[in-house]
Amino acid sequence: MTSASTAPDYAAMLRIAYDEAQIGLAEGGLPIGAAIFRRNGTLVSRGHNRRVQQSDPSIHGETDAFRNAGRQKSYRDLIMVTTLAPCWYCSGLVKQFGFRTVIIGESQNFSGGENWLREQGIEIIDLADPMCITMMRNFIATHPALWNEDIGVNE
Ligand SMILES: [Zn+2]
Repeated sequence: MTSASTAPDYAAMLRIAYDEAQIGLAEGGLPIGAAIFRRNGTLVSRGHNRRVQQSDPSIHGETDAFRNAGRQKSYRDLIMVTTLAPCWYCSGLVKQFGFRTVIIGESQNFSGGENWLREQGIEIIDLADPMCITMMRNFIATHPALWNEDIGVNE
């Protein structure tokens, strides 16, 4: 039997990452969330930036979701979903472990390694989601020092 495969519901996937970002915000941290899915839409793991909460600059949304996924045989058929374009650190993670698809909530407030990932042949789906854009814009406007620390801008 053959049938056209249904495209995964990217908006529904992003909603999980967005919920994670909101949890981070409620905890007093940065509103950046991520989730990892199989191609069929099954949720593997989710997480959010917890740098402030844990005083650990290595816990970004993507790395939190990645660690929560545990050991995977392969990442080729997993999809990384994140509310904000991945920074260099998380872009490196995506490349290192062989993810082939990244869904980005938005890249207007921060574009990170988005173009570099594209150059690596990784599929980038940028949803330019208004809720994600507003969430990050508001956070940057009200917490500029925290944001600059997150992206490694110290001065
Ligand atoms: Zn990152």
